[in-house]
Amino acid sequence: MAKLKVNQLKKSYGSLEVLKGIDLEVQEGEVVCLIGPSGSGKSTLLRCMNLLEEVNGGEVMIDHTLLTDKKVNINKVRENIGMVFQHFNLFPHLSVLDNITLSPIELKKNTKAEAKEIALKLLDRVGLADKANARPAQLSGGQKQRVAIARALAMNPDIMLFDEPTSALDPEMVGEVLAVIQQLATEGMTMVIVTHEMGFAREVANQVIFMDGGLVVEKGTPAEVFTNPTHPRTQDFLDKVL
Ligand code: ADP
Ligand code: MG
Repeated sequence: MAKLKVNQLKKSYGSLEVLKGIDLEVQEGEVVCLIGPSGSGKSTLLRCMNLLEEVNGGEVMIDHTLLTDKKVNINKVRENIGMVFQHFNLFPHLSVLDNITLSPIELKKNTKAEAKEIALKLLDRVGLADKANARPAQLSGGQKQRVAIARALAMNPDIMLFDEPTSALDPEMVGEVLAVIQQLATEGMTMVIVTHEMGFAREVANQVIFMDGGLVVEKGTPAEVFTNPTHPRTQDFLDKVL
């Protein structure tokens, strides 16, 4: 059974139909890279996966839970889905440590002491053990994004969603963030990553999904999508970005 399944998902903003019936499956431990031109609906799709957006049709299923069922406690489901955004979204008035421990403490997942211990371990894992007491403003973009990843991991999620995690970074900081994501892949984390880093997608993804105009145009292994795309729109996109 798929870890995450999206069935005929539709989403509109007013009269603008942004997702026109998306089908996809993510297996446990799989890394899926979502690629496609700007405006194709990648971010909207990612936000629909944990129902940060209300959907207009279709289904999202995680394990045995149908998220689009009105009876589901979506806040409970979201605790198991980590999300990392392009612009980090750290709380500027909190220390790095407090950014990471906030949710686990507020949602009573851990005691303060436990949350702190977990946060320090996670900071060590993302190479920022010495930054626990820093404020976000004192960090580089790459460091901020690694804190954002540690913060998401602090809830011990079993799926991680990344929306262009390196797009806001100076080029020299892209590698340090991708290395952390790659490490998570090695550890078997199930991940959906919207990215323009085609080299990274080719290396890390089990499945690449190309979206255009609110539809999945093509999906397959990196070799299939990057080396032998079957759809002219995929080829056209790759010609522009590779
Ligand atoms: P991508 O991430 O692939 O660039 P998005 O999912 O951000 O694409 O956007 C897809 C389309 O939906 C775009 O035309 C965008 O302008 C529109 N859109 C996204 N969010 C909103 C919103 N909150 N309100 C209205 N239109 C939106
Ligand atoms: Mg986007």
